[in-house]
Amino acid sequence: MNRKDTVFAFMKKNDIIEITISIERNTIAVLIVMTRTHDTAIVPNMIIVSHFLEYVKDGIHYITGTETVLCPDCGQIMNPHCRCRRYIRRLNGMRDKLSVRVLFCALCHRYHRELPDFVTPFKHLCTAAIAAIHDAIGDYCVDDHSAARIRRWVERFLKFGSATVRRLKLEYPMLVTNYDVNSTFDTLRYFVRAVANADEWKANEFV
Ligand SMILES: [Zn+2]
Repeated sequence: MNRKDTVFAFMKKNDIIEITISIERNTIAVLIVMTRTHDTAIVPNMIIVSHFLEYVKDGIHYITGTETVLCPDCGQIMNPHCRCRRYIRRLNGMRDKLSVRVLFCALCHRYHRELPDFVTPFKHLCTAAIAAIHDAIGDYCVDDHSAARIRRWVERFLKFGSATVRRLKLEYPMLVTNYDVNSTFDTLRYFVRAVANADEWKANEFV
């Protein structure tokens, strides 16, 4: 049984959310991340969770995932290490301060930020706002130029996400794809999670 099979068997046994799966590291992608001078070289790894607790204290939203999270690099169960700040802009323009957990893998000594699934990695706007801007629903907090840029990004990402999920489905026939294709928000949220947790984000242009 190889590492990926072990991870998957574990998931099946414990009925863990379907797309927290480990994918072999892409050597070229790793090289790109390492040679980049961008901030992403420091925190390339993020795990997105759909089940979490959220409480607000002193204006800070504390997010604590309730899923067992496996290291995307080696499949080991990760443990909380510390917390860090993340800002997120809502559709109404309000900026929320989040406190998210940093998880540590004791086996491969890597750190992974645990993001709630309303956050899209590397984006300041929450996923609902990105989807609403794409669909041109309601009033939103960005200018026309930014809205056009966001729409182009969503179009590209949906294509990439769809291809990634199709590939994962071939690799893991048990993968449950439970998103509403008629909802940009639901599809985007699912694809963001699938791409991030399959460790595919850093291998593409969506940083
Ligand atoms: Zn690990």
